[in-house]
Amino acid sequence: MGAAAERPSCVVLLGAPGSGKGTQAALLAGELGVPAVSTGDMLRQAVADSSPLGGQVERLLAAGELVDDRTMARVVEERLQQPDAARGFILDGYPRTRVQADDLEAILGRRSRCLDAVVRLAVPEAELIARALGRKRADDDEKVVRRRLEVYRRRTAPLVEYYREQGLLREVDGHQPVEAVAASVRQALAEGNGWC
Ligand code: AMP
Repeated sequence: MGAAAERPSCVVLLGAPGSGKGTQAALLAGELGVPAVSTGDMLRQAVADSSPLGGQVERLLAAGELVDDRTMARVVEERLQQPDAARGFILDGYPRTRVQADDLEAILGRRSRCLDAVVRLAVPEAELIARALGRKRADDDEKVVRRRLEVYRRRTAPLVEYYREQGLLREVDGHQPVEAVAASVRQALAEGNGWC
């Protein structure tokens, strides 16, 4: 059992594309003094760098499809081995499938770590579409936006139940101003501890 007063340091943000995970991950990371780890940013950077990983994933990103679980496990394990993540991390965009959730548990287990909490940002779908179409990103034309939401519903949304069963889930209303969401996230994290 961890000490009840300890601040959470290994946190997953779960939510559909456009739910505000990136914004909240950055705010929370600053507060907790751990890095925000965005797999989407890492993959987009790999594409921008024309690295072998970038070449492998470029078309999947453009189509709104998921990169395979094995590749993602390698990317995330390498990132979490960096010294800045020794004390913890805020994961934004990983895990996105049940296999990835198991992979994450194994990755953390190898470092004698475990998740403290999974924060779910809930936002109505109409709002998600409006937000996505309002921001200018190459993969955000409407067809791709809808595909990304469909992939989320089918592959990622089941993780909500999974983490609820694990006792790790904290639900937050993501359909509020950024600062109000940040306050709700803080409050949700103060509510309980993880499975360590
Ligand atoms: P994001 O910025 O988190 O919405 O991610 C952008 C894109 O990167 C996604 O639409 C996927 O193509 C890819 N991606 C990011 N994270 C993952 C992941 N955990 N598993 C598979 N693909 C991912």
